[in-house]
Amino acid sequence: MVASLSDLPIRDDLRGLTPYGAPQKKVRIALNVNENTHPIPEAVATDIVKALAEAVLGVNRYPDREFTTLRQSLAGYLGHGLTAENIWAANGSNEVLQQILQAFGGPGRSVLGFPPTYSMHSIIAAGTGTRWVAGERDEGFEISPQTAVQWIERTTPDLVFFCSPNNPTGTPLSLETIAAAYDATNGIVVVDEAYAEFAPSELPTALTLLEGRERLIVSRTMSKAFAFAGARLGYLAADPAVADALRLVRLPYHLSALTQAAAVAALAHSTEMLAMVDDIKAQRDRLLVELPKLGYPAWPSWSNFVLFGGVADPHAVFEELLDHEIIIRDLSIPHHLRVTAGTEAETTAFLEAMAGLGPIGA
Ligand code: PMP
Repeated sequence: MVASLSDLPIRDDLRGLTPYGAPQKKVRIALNVNENTHPIPEAVATDIVKALAEAVLGVNRYPDREFTTLRQSLAGYLGHGLTAENIWAANGSNEVLQQILQAFGGPGRSVLGFPPTYSMHSIIAAGTGTRWVAGERDEGFEISPQTAVQWIERTTPDLVFFCSPNNPTGTPLSLETIAAAYDATNGIVVVDEAYAEFAPSELPTALTLLEGRERLIVSRTMSKAFAFAGARLGYLAADPAVADALRLVRLPYHLSALTQAAAVAALAHSTEMLAMVDDIKAQRDRLLVELPKLGYPAWPSWSNFVLFGGVADPHAVFEELLDHEIIIRDLSIPHHLRVTAGTEAETTAFLEAMAGLGPIGA
């Protein structure tokens, strides 16, 4: 007997929705979900395994529900005068965002976002019963302070979600826009900085705005620059009162002792863990130069991926690359595709495959 979803008494507001769907395929070159494609250094891996070996001996007990050591490590990594009290963490920043919406969103409440943006923002909104309000960006995917304020005044959301640099466009967001949005709302303002470590130093982080703004939350992840996607560790920095709110919705012991041990060990080696970031940025810059030469204009990117246009048939190009064992991302943006900057060899293979496309390409 095989039932379908419509046979189940699922919530009405979930009927007809599609789940997060980045294809997960075993291919030689995976440039589709903005991971760091460099493996972590072996010496760091050895230290992490040592920490795990110790932690595993204690798994008969529940882990530290407050993950205090990890929060201290994360605060130390972020700097900006932050302490453990300012930090909260969960299994990936997706879970952090979910907890934020559980506490501050939910039925009868709304969150304003600015598509095209990270697809999980609206999916997590749906999962938590929070109404998603889609604002519009300015030219070049930017959001000026005026645009942000107009959308907030028009739609009076309970939360505003920004993403800087924005996925999938790579666009940075100015601190002026964030500050203006904060002043225009009594709700929570979230800045998703998953890709912050790839941005040039000219892009100041929203962490610098936290002081005196208790409704501002900056979310980060160890999944991207930190090369730790498989370990699942996302976190936020905010006023300590935000952590108090999230304690009301988190499940007790949500961060396993193994996750905590692995993350603390990795953070003790943050310099080595981040060693490939400059390489990745160089490959991103190479994509930004080479793709236009092949007829694909690329959007400026402050991140580890590039959104490029001029593609005659994005779906056909996606499939053709797959035949070359290369997977990138088709986000259903007309004539556009997104590619993650990989290692030099991966980026070369991708560019060569793009150069060999027929009429489905540029
Ligand atoms: N935010 C953005 C903007 C992302 O692109 C991603 C991952 N694609 C995430 C958050 C979630 O990352 P994780 O749950 O692995 O921390």
